[in-house]
Amino acid sequence: MYRLVCVECGESFPPDEILYQCTRCGHLLAVEYDLETIDVDLAAWKRRPLSVWRYREILPVSIEPVSLQEGGTPLYHLSRIGEEIGVPHLYAKHEGMNPTGSFKDRGMTVGVSMALQLGRTSVACASTGNTSASLAAYAAKAGIPAVVLLPAGKVALGKVAQALMHGARVLSIRGNFDKALEMVHELCLSHGLYLLNSVNPFRLEGQKTIGFEALDQLGEVPDRMVLPVGNAGNISAVYKGFTELMTLGRMDRIPMMTGIQASGSSPVVRAIHEGLPEVIPDANPETVATAIRIGAPVNAEKALAAIRKTGGTAESVTDGEILSMQRDLARKEGIGVEPASAASVAGVKRLRDMGAIDRDEKIVCVVTGHLLKDPETVIRQCEPPLEIDADLPSLLSALQRS
Ligand SMILES: *Cc1c(COP(=O)(O)O)cnc(C)c1O
Ligand SMILES: [Zn+2]
Repeated sequence: MYRLVCVECGESFPPDEILYQCTRCGHLLAVEYDLETIDVDLAAWKRRPLSVWRYREILPVSIEPVSLQEGGTPLYHLSRIGEEIGVPHLYAKHEGMNPTGSFKDRGMTVGVSMALQLGRTSVACASTGNTSASLAAYAAKAGIPAVVLLPAGKVALGKVAQALMHGARVLSIRGNFDKALEMVHELCLSHGLYLLNSVNPFRLEGQKTIGFEALDQLGEVPDRMVLPVGNAGNISAVYKGFTELMTLGRMDRIPMMTGIQASGSSPVVRAIHEGLPEVIPDANPETVATAIRIGAPVNAEKALAAIRKTGGTAESVTDGEILSMQRDLARKEGIGVEPASAASVAGVKRLRDMGAIDRDEKIVCVVTGHLLKDPETVIRQCEPPLEIDADLPSLLSALQRS
């Protein structure tokens, strides 16, 4: 059993009420389970495949889920990069290996399942790209229509391609993400579509399983979890999951939750550094990492609490640092990610250089989306292939050059 609870005033609401914020004070809602009454059989968990649904006792879905086999992503040891930056126990959880190529699938398998469980027949979101790609695919699997609003001209090519091909109704808004979210929220409230942005408390329930899987794969609690932060839903979700495992007696401490933003879009970092009670939005966020190009993070209040309560921190990295780490991950570790994803590892390098991270920390970075999401940014950084005549001498002479 569970209920929806306001993170600010503690008001609680029944589980089948369709709400995206507290009706008393307007703050965010979270799903709260009666953990004392939930029987989590650890042996049963271990027997199930590594996936979002391994942990179904502490997920809100009671129907057969709308699933494309999400989760179960690899945890890689970054041996070369870790050695280079002076943190040998550095790991990357590659969320780009999900069905549509980002962690958003963990949220959508739960979110779209909940849409059906609550009797809704259409879904919608605003998106910097990956949320729309994922929603489009899960709506297709569920057999219901999806509407997605994108900030015009600011969405990576692969993500638009996915949303279109999976059959969503795709609209480009002449405005930024924050504006698109405001509009889709109004549309959902007035026209009964089910809203699947990260203000939706059920979506975050799916995403918390990133942390569960990381624990199961590492076989111990990492000292630090590092995530790129856009709307700050994912870092909040992973933290919430850990608090549940603590209550269930499955963990004895929570990793230091560490959020990384791009320097042109870093309201959470500023709030942490300056000790502000809430974030001051960026009116014009700008970064090459479009997935975290967000000026008014919707889940900021949850994320600030997660970072502060765990002794974590937040830091920003430049677009140059992000792109350079994207290349290092690709060339030194064989891991292909989109720019926002590389921010987490670039953030570890920056924090280590600042002396804010100890050498012997065990660190799990979440790398959030696949390289192919944003081919245009990749191509801009690389030399194009050299075109040569189709004979061996030309080939040999080309290989000798460079
Ligand atoms: C959505 C997304 C993020 C940001 O996650 P939030 O929950 O909004 O903080 C980071 N990277 C990628 C690839 C994403 O798709
Ligand atoms: Zn409230």
